[in-house]
Amino acid sequence: MKRMQTVLVVLSVFVCMGCSCGPRQSGTGEPVFELVDYHVHLKGGLTLDEAVAISKKNGVKFGIAQNCGLGFPVTDDALWTKDRMQKVIDAAVKNDVAIEINARYRIPSEAFIKRAKTSGAKFAFGTNNTGRELGNLEYCRQMIAKCGLTAKDMFTPKPHDQKPIFKKGLPKK
Ligand SMILES: [Zn+2]
Repeated sequence: MKRMQTVLVVLSVFVCMGCSCGPRQSGTGEPVFELVDYHVHLKGGLTLDEAVAISKKNGVKFGIAQNCGLGFPVTDDALWTKDRMQKVIDAAVKNDVAIEINARYRIPSEAFIKRAKTSGAKFAFGTNNTGRELGNLEYCRQMIAKCGLTAKDMFTPKPHDQKPIFKKGLPKK
């Protein structure tokens, strides 16, 4: 298996503060398409070799995230009015930015994901581990089932020379 080592800039609007993960629920059935987890960290002593082994065992491809995005604390579900959800979704669709479904924080919500899917947004899955325990994308699997996500709803990386970083360049300060 090719070892992927990518630097991800995570769309961090969904990162919330102080969530405790709680017990992980088991997944809801077999995924109907190949799963990719773009948000695995080598933390807690987890090595690349171990991550590769877990990837094989779980049948999920991994992207190793070496860096994390900007903090943007949005913690209160009540703040996510329909209008606000739609604004973020529209911005993501317009800018061709995938929305991460974050297994650790169990966000965004089912309502958000359904709305985003209807709007044509693309999704990526992320474990976002803080230690060596990776789980197995439980929340993401649940959302596949609950929101009816299919392969066409998922983000796929563009060919190297067509990645936005090469077309648009880095943002100026
Ligand atoms: Zn991260």
